[in-house]
Amino acid sequence: MRNNNLNSKIEVETTPNLVTKVYEKLQNKISAFRRAVNRPLTICEKILIGHLDESAVFSSSDALVAGNSYVLLNPDRVALQDVTGQMTILQFMLAGLKRTAVPTTVHCDHLIQARIGSDPDTKAALYENNEVFQFLESASRKYGMGFWKPGAGIIHQVVLENYAFPGGLMIGTDSHTPNAGGLGMLAIGVGGLDAAEVMAGMSWELLYPKRIGVYLKGELNSWASPKDVILFVASKLTVSGATNAIIEYFGPGAAAISCTGKATITNMGAEIGATCSVFPYDKRMETYLRATGRRAIADLANKRVKLLTQDPQIEKEICENRENSINYFDQLIEIDLSNLEPYIVGPHTPDLARPISKMIDDIKKNNYLDTISVALIGSCTNSSYEDMSRAADVAEQAREKGIKTKVSLQVTPGSEMIRATIERDGQMQLLIDIGANVLANACGPCIGQWSRPELKKGEPNTIVTSYNRNFPGRNDGRRETMNFIGSPELVIALALGGRLSFSPLTDELTANDGTRFKLKPPKIAPETPERGFKDVTDIYIAPATDPNSVEVIINKDSDRLQELQHFPKWDGKDFEKLPILAKVRGKCTTDHISPAGPWLMYRGHLDKISDNLLLGAVNADRDGEVGRGKNTLNSKIESFPHIAREYKKRGLKWIIVGDNNYGEGSSREHAAMTPRYLGCAAVIAKSFARIHETNLKKQGVLALTFADPLDYSKIMEDDRISIIGLNNLKPRKSVNCILHHVDGRDEEISLRHSYNESQLEWFRAGSALNILHSMEEASLE
Ligand code: SF4
Repeated sequence: MRNNNLNSKIEVETTPNLVTKVYEKLQNKISAFRRAVNRPLTICEKILIGHLDESAVFSSSDALVAGNSYVLLNPDRVALQDVTGQMTILQFMLAGLKRTAVPTTVHCDHLIQARIGSDPDTKAALYENNEVFQFLESASRKYGMGFWKPGAGIIHQVVLENYAFPGGLMIGTDSHTPNAGGLGMLAIGVGGLDAAEVMAGMSWELLYPKRIGVYLKGELNSWASPKDVILFVASKLTVSGATNAIIEYFGPGAAAISCTGKATITNMGAEIGATCSVFPYDKRMETYLRATGRRAIADLANKRVKLLTQDPQIEKEICENRENSINYFDQLIEIDLSNLEPYIVGPHTPDLARPISKMIDDIKKNNYLDTISVALIGSCTNSSYEDMSRAADVAEQAREKGIKTKVSLQVTPGSEMIRATIERDGQMQLLIDIGANVLANACGPCIGQWSRPELKKGEPNTIVTSYNRNFPGRNDGRRETMNFIGSPELVIALALGGRLSFSPLTDELTANDGTRFKLKPPKIAPETPERGFKDVTDIYIAPATDPNSVEVIINKDSDRLQELQHFPKWDGKDFEKLPILAKVRGKCTTDHISPAGPWLMYRGHLDKISDNLLLGAVNADRDGEVGRGKNTLNSKIESFPHIAREYKKRGLKWIIVGDNNYGEGSSREHAAMTPRYLGCAAVIAKSFARIHETNLKKQGVLALTFADPLDYSKIMEDDRISIIGLNNLKPRKSVNCILHHVDGRDEEISLRHSYNESQLEWFRAGSALNILHSMEEASLE
């Protein structure tokens, strides 16, 4: 059996204590809320209410209007991955705390590029990213975070195996954090600054989510798998259909799905915009907890089942009449698992779904390339013991007939524990016997960390994966690659058929002896290994017992990492006659403001990554020119980051003018940090995406909107802008702005803001972290 002797007692031993405290908190808060609203509660309501900050007041459910109210929550855990975690930790360091206030772990999974195979790729990544790993490890040891080494596994799989627990609330700096919903946890992907603040002891703000109920009945059979549940849901809700909503699965069918199968489903809620997804606690979760060495937590959960499940009256009422669902959910989807077919989605979007039986028509209609170039299984989404066992069952059928896959097959195990266990139990060998190559226990081809030298530039090709995301360029950086997603067992079948149009339901394969045969649906697989998971060692480093002895390693000459400095305090003066760096037209997402791609490697170096500022932004004054504008110092057309640096060199602050919903897309804090770093004083937009607006506020950039959006068109490229009366900034009070036109005319316009009193303090202090730092310093005096 597995034991948790992972070189550390600290994290693992404290977990039952943490869970006990969480359940006490849930008990008290849920009871109070139940008295106030006097109705049955769903599981996501219970977990959210149970984690409300002490300052939260609610006298009725009116205080919590879904999609409207903001709530302050206290998460139980934080999980960081190695790319986004760099800036998170650098920001946490600025707060000046000695230890993280909330249990936190760091997972090295995104920086291992898939080239040859597990060992050489992991070794190469260790060499190439050595300084980043050293930084993450030393910071983890110093600040009390558990550090999972490169090769230990993918963040969400490792979290599921070790830290997730029913009824908990976790945030993570990765969009597939909701994977832990398979173990009954509300787990939500956030930006790095949110995580840094929670690590520093602040509560976390969330738009109180809507609820989408998915009622499951029946049982999966034949080729249908948990993956097909979420692919079906994605086809119904589309990529944005669950935005600002939690998807809550329930019904008799829920208990028929294994814990890891549930995690596959909640993982991919991210593909339809859900805040997160969750299943109620059940026996399948108990089985998984016990198999992964967490008997104490299973015992605790068993004593608190009512806290960890939906009130039974809800299902009863909905079963009597589906229309009763409006009392509890904004939307209800019903799925009979017994009738679910295996699905394939793609290319380029996860909601382009069809059952496998319809694939052949879609290929003809859309001229998709039928020949598959590579098939890939695994990732954080689909590499459980059950997944690998079903995939291996299909492989075994092929091996018995003496055949191998017709195309390259790559396997990325989700964790070292899974890899070692399926190696011991034979599933890995079955996959290798039909031609599989085993990659590192890491993200690799799921996040574009995939070297494909055999593919010519611009060459169209089709791949099939059991991953979760498939936008253009996602897997190999090539927009021409058409990426389709299905369950691991289906991907193996497609690899054996070699064609996208191959259907294991109807098509035959040719055995080595020339006879024809059909694959049988994979057998029901064990959800956990009969012999227990294999013990694994040397994958985890515990926090130091003497943190003072640990130096955080940041090489002063590094171009990957740079220690952050506090942004300066506001000098108390109005902004007088500032130049406009960019007037942006149309959509300007955080990826337009701070692009990813090759910039991924500079996520820990603020100065370096600032060279990507606004490189994707469309210039409203220059006939749609992208990433460039007029340098008012020399009248030349230059790149925005270059101009910003020129202004910064001369101590000149500057302004960005934005269009509608400026900063939409993600919570990437670099999109607020890089302008601030290069001297942005204010962003004036027609409207903001909420998270980016908050990020600007937190970094000390004044975020303002036009009182009259038509004033956007009054601003000219050569104007200077003054924002005055800043000493009298007050909540809900408008702000005066003067446009100094180049012809000598001055024009006054009115601006609005959404700052509350404490957010105004962030502006005055220079950033939210500056406040946190001064509070920490004061507490030490
Ligand atoms: S395997 Fe893919 S989806 Fe999962 S954490 Fe890695 S990159 Fe994200």
